[in-house]
Amino acid sequence: MEEAQESGGGIRSALPLGSLISPSGNEVELPELEGKTIGLYFAANWYPKCEAFTPALAAAYRQLRGRGAGFEVVFVSCDEDRPSFERFHRAMPWPAVPFGDIPCKKSLSDMFQVEGIPRLVVLAPDGAEVVCSDAVELVHRYGDPAFPFTPARVAELEAAERSKFASQTLDKLFSVSHVKNGGDQQVVSVLPPPSVPIASLVGKTVGLYFSADGCEPCVKFTERLAAIYGNLKRRSAEFEVVYIPMDKEEGGYERSRGDMPWPALPYDGGEGAPSRELARYFDVREIPTLVVIGPDGKTVTREGRNLVNLYFDMAFPFTEEQVRRLQELEDERAKGYSPSLRHAGHRHELSVVSEKSGGGPYVCCECDEQGFGWAYQCIACGYEIHLRCGRDGEDGGAVGAEQ
Ligand SMILES: [Zn+2]
Ligand SMILES: [Zn+2]
Repeated sequence: MEEAQESGGGIRSALPLGSLISPSGNEVELPELEGKTIGLYFAANWYPKCEAFTPALAAAYRQLRGRGAGFEVVFVSCDEDRPSFERFHRAMPWPAVPFGDIPCKKSLSDMFQVEGIPRLVVLAPDGAEVVCSDAVELVHRYGDPAFPFTPARVAELEAAERSKFASQTLDKLFSVSHVKNGGDQQVVSVLPPPSVPIASLVGKTVGLYFSADGCEPCVKFTERLAAIYGNLKRRSAEFEVVYIPMDKEEGGYERSRGDMPWPALPYDGGEGAPSRELARYFDVREIPTLVVIGPDGKTVTREGRNLVNLYFDMAFPFTEEQVRRLQELEDERAKGYSPSLRHAGHRHELSVVSEKSGGGPYVCCECDEQGFGWAYQCIACGYEIHLRCGRDGEDGGAVGAEQ
């Protein structure tokens, strides 16, 4: 760090870099870094978050290079052996510190106090200063428009996002799909078959369901959502779900749709497609995700999945007010549960906790779904189950209760 400002410039005086190598193993000249914004990418192939982030960074990188932005990335490997390093590096379009240059990797990682990966330290041209100590989130969220990753740029993006959300309507959300169908606004149905005009969704509470074939939590959640959807339809609730496919191939899309009683966006495969744009817009990081849009076209919640898991069809219309009401109901109902119990799935006694007494978000060890607040918990082991799952299991705990 102490050398950073010395001798008036150049990447070499700012960073302890030796030679770099390209993904194909050739040496890269350091002058190629001069005058560019530089991202030092600390990552390792064995870590899933790095594997997930590399393609996102590569996509942004290609966009930026394509339009001539002065941006370069240097991979600083935390891989455990040379073959893994080489394999991982080949998936990247930028140079790396050679695997064997341990002093360089060590001093870079000390210099920027790298404790967790993936980490993307962004330096102003010639390494003059750190403009962003970790741009991983920014790249995930905004992609290449995040460049040059400065606080001013981030403030601009956030302001643009706020105004976009404030003026959001269903038509605008689906407009990307309109274009695809020839730009014949309002009339074109993008929800085949049978066609469901977007106009018919306006004024309803609409769940945008991001999911894909071959993902086990999605299959489970689809089943639950379908049951709730059926109940709400029978009650003539003003509710609709639209499948936003995250499928990687059309066969998977067809299989997903087979389990769904609601309309879907057409299969559009690949990056940049309308469904991916919606995922980016709502910052969808994992599937399944249920984003709920209110009758006015504004986002009600991105936590639809949690709410469905917690409250089933009672969650409708997913508003804060409804959630508060349900929490009060839950508090009331919790009084009917015994303060502690023995559960078949765990060898210690479990005690009731609430949000006020240490209960937070958790994944139920009985049914694998999320919970929040009220739970039966073993603090020592971190074992937690829904109150209702505890009650189901109370009898199940007795020998032979399986029938
Ligand atoms: Zn449960
Ligand atoms: Zn325990």
